[in-house]
Amino acid sequence: MRILVTGGAGFIGSHLIDRLMEEGHDVICLDNFYTGRKRNVLKWINHPYFELIRHDITEPIRLEVDQIYHLACPASPVHYQYNPVKTIKTNVMGTLNMLGLAKRVKARILLASTSEVYGDPEVHPQSEEYRGNVNTIGIRSCYDEGKRVAETLCFDYHRQNNVDVRVARIFNTYGPRMLENDGRVVSNFVAQALRGEALTVYGDGSQTRSFCYVADLVDGLMRLMNGDHLGPINLGNPGEYTILELAQMIQGKINPDSEIQYKPMPQDDPKRRKPDITKAKSLLEWEPKVPVQQGLDRMIADFRDRLGASSSEQAAGSSQAEPTPVA
Ligand code: NAD
Ligand code: UDP
Ligand code: UDP
Repeated sequence: MRILVTGGAGFIGSHLIDRLMEEGHDVICLDNFYTGRKRNVLKWINHPYFELIRHDITEPIRLEVDQIYHLACPASPVHYQYNPVKTIKTNVMGTLNMLGLAKRVKARILLASTSEVYGDPEVHPQSEEYRGNVNTIGIRSCYDEGKRVAETLCFDYHRQNNVDVRVARIFNTYGPRMLENDGRVVSNFVAQALRGEALTVYGDGSQTRSFCYVADLVDGLMRLMNGDHLGPINLGNPGEYTILELAQMIQGKINPDSEIQYKPMPQDDPKRRKPDITKAKSLLEWEPKVPVQQGLDRMIADFRDRLGASSSEQAAGSSQAEPTPVA
């Protein structure tokens, strides 16, 4: 099959591309390199079945494909709040363009939605039926509301134009290739501990999240894409930890002497989050397999390699060591 992956140079997208290429598909990776990096797909660059296109999905594009995994959108609060209007455009105009493309070529399209559609949830754990508690005018709403509209667009294109849609609600995912300056909690803690810096815990660290290893998540996305259920369907690991527990776990693995520094809690930060994955289990026969201890070890090994390399590049005066966002 010819498969388009938007946001394919990013964290989840590049792991997905590895799996699709290994299965022998013809893959087009489309990315504007805002938070994605060419190095994430470097090993496929000269492969005859791989094509990399630098393109911003807020502009229309005509391609011929069978399936579209639509992942393009910055996912870390730091990056999606850097240019919130752009985040909305990416979610709304970008998703509209991808649905228009899917409609024209009759491709199946999977939207990477998010647990953020539940906002600061009043229901715990969160099942797909829960309608959410989102602040429409807060600093997270460019992302939360953007994804909610993207879901709406999918189902309107489905009802109005028979577009074959799939919607995944992804919960916090971590693993190798996250940007070391990404701002998300697992990458921050791992990078801080490896650099000998204090781990920055926002608030008192009693807020919770549930962390899914990227290989498990990619498996779930592919099952959803190739199954009959449209979604929305939760994909995440139900193991729930407080942020302080996560900090201590990473401290224990890297540097038990590293300090914890408490910082103010960001506005509208959800207090608890844990997926109810009953649907994914029964409809996709999917559940996460990689325990968080093992996933963290793999991620730490990757960060050790990269941070080691980037400090030696910096020492050698390379300008590519720490690219800054531009979009
Ligand atoms: P990421 O930032 O690593 O990847 C996003 C990719 O999209 C990047 O390569 C970026 O350059 C690209 N992109 C952004 N705006 C674009 C635009 N306008 N045009 C073209 N490309 C653009 O993030 P990720 O963690 O890999 O997330 C991938 C998707 O999964 C996102 O849609 C995100 O909302 C969703 N998601 C991720 C998580 C998570 O925990 N990682 C949780 C919920 C949902
Ligand atoms: N679109 C695109 N590629 C295509 C087909 C459509 O980027 O192959 C864009 C198109 O430019 C439009 C959007 O997708 O902005 C929605 O397309 P649709 O055909 O649904 O709506 P219309 O073009 O009629 O407004
Ligand atoms: N967080 C933290 N320290 C950091 C980064 C994040 O304590 O250095 C907290 C953040 O306030 C939130 C949780 O960790 O409660 C998860 O944050 P992240 O940005 O990774 O994901 P999201 O809030 O989108 O789930």
